[in-house]
Amino acid sequence: MKGRLSVDPLDMENASLDFGGVQRAEPLAVFHPYSAQDVAWLVKAAYESAHGFTVSARGHGHSINGQAMTTNGVVIRMSRRLGYNERPPVATKVYEKFMHVDVWGGELWIDVLRSTLKYGLAPKSWTDYLYLSVGGTLSNAGISGQAFNHGPQISNVYELDVVTGKGELLTCSKESNSELFHAVLGGLGQFGIITRARIALEPAPLMVRWIRVIYSNFSAFTHDQEYLISLHGQPNGQKFDYVEGFVNVDEGLINNWRSSFFSPRNPVKISSLNASGNGAVLYCLEITKNYGESDSNYTIDQEVYALLKKLNFIPNSIFTTDVPYVDFLDRVHKSELKLRSKGLWDVPHPWLNLFVPKSRIEDFDRGVFKGILGNKKKTNGPILIYPMNKNKWDGKTSVVTPNEDVFYLVALLMSALDNGDETQTPEYLSNQNRRILRFCADSGINVKQYLPHYTTQQEWRDHYGDKWTQFYKRKLQFDPRHILATGQHMWEDLI
Ligand code: FAD
Repeated sequence: MKGRLSVDPLDMENASLDFGGVQRAEPLAVFHPYSAQDVAWLVKAAYESAHGFTVSARGHGHSINGQAMTTNGVVIRMSRRLGYNERPPVATKVYEKFMHVDVWGGELWIDVLRSTLKYGLAPKSWTDYLYLSVGGTLSNAGISGQAFNHGPQISNVYELDVVTGKGELLTCSKESNSELFHAVLGGLGQFGIITRARIALEPAPLMVRWIRVIYSNFSAFTHDQEYLISLHGQPNGQKFDYVEGFVNVDEGLINNWRSSFFSPRNPVKISSLNASGNGAVLYCLEITKNYGESDSNYTIDQEVYALLKKLNFIPNSIFTTDVPYVDFLDRVHKSELKLRSKGLWDVPHPWLNLFVPKSRIEDFDRGVFKGILGNKKKTNGPILIYPMNKNKWDGKTSVVTPNEDVFYLVALLMSALDNGDETQTPEYLSNQNRRILRFCADSGINVKQYLPHYTTQQEWRDHYGDKWTQFYKRKLQFDPRHILATGQHMWEDLI
């Protein structure tokens, strides 16, 4: 065993915090593994220990509610510290012939991308932000605008090495140890620690045509989003590669942290659209078309034109830019650097992510975007909304989604600020999240939380619904002593 246990104050401080900035929990120690066997050694020690201690894998610590923390155990530092030039315990290996890559579970997606691009290849399904670990996103689902077409990241994994809560290091896939494979994908770290993932690749596009169009009518907006994702089975030239969207309930379309896209002269145009719209709320559809060296500008123009002409956005509200593929994928990092320079990145983030069934998205719009949020001067963070096709999600995995063929992600990604405005405090924003959840419950809108956060077992049971029995059985099978990822607060009522 070459791994190292540390109580170094810097390690302890990093393991006690996360991106959410609302929870704090100090572990007993931090473990730096040198190999997957080291991870297995630590978990086995916890499993066999008479007094018991817990083990939490920490990817890049970008959870919101302390999910990677523990107070009575050890945090495993899975991800390398950026800029420290450390070697991952499993070396990244690209298999060009088989179009897949093997990576360490703590590897950041940005580094996966850099490695695969050397071979002209790239993973198919992404998150909007790449400074997240492979194990961290696969424990949730990993979604972005490609999910309608390729499914979430958990639908694009062929094989995993996993250390179970008994300290066994097992290889699993759909064919071998399939129960563990499906349990771990979307499993919130409850069944094992992913030490290696085999991820599907495709030829990397060179460039991206990145387009935004604006709507004032919600029905027209969602109709068009749903139309675009219904094209998933079409040949590449006849569909977009990425479909997302966001809601603008205030003047923040220009000011939020995904707005680097808009050029300085565009805000004028947007505010005039705002005045001529049907109300204060505007919706922005965001779509992209990938292309390579062999595609002529003419072909791309024609393909984009043919798709756009079927949509009902506000005339003349098209904003287009062409960027290298990597710049598009890494777009949120640019905004991160800007916010960091203003001290606005390391602030509390009381985020709420919901999957909303298609049949109730209009009710959600009325009650939340136009209701609870509609009279706000400033929301201070993007509100994303985009639909996905349920048939791209494998029902055997642990993640839960609404019971409809199409469901939306609605992501309320607020930053809390200490600027004297009481509507921007963490308390106000957390309370607003509770109001939104209460509105959904009172209106019978069966939302499912994505990146879920609950504090009682009854809430977790309700979240998993029909899947709870299977989830519980899998827990008994793979982590019977409840050692792993206790920061999810799933089993406390039982222990
Ligand atoms: P951590 O916060 O370190 O861990 C999360 C959970 O996973 C913990 O319970 C932890 O114990 C467990 N875990 C970590 N590593 C492993 C492992 N190797 N094996 C098993 N369990 C493990 N999500 C999306 O889907 N799409 C997005 O577009 C998106 N954008 C985001 C943008 C930002 C700026 C942020 C902060 C988050 C975003 N997320 C998005 C959410 C993100 O995917 C999750 O929070 C994810 O868990 C973060 O990964 P991490 O490596 O930081 O995980």
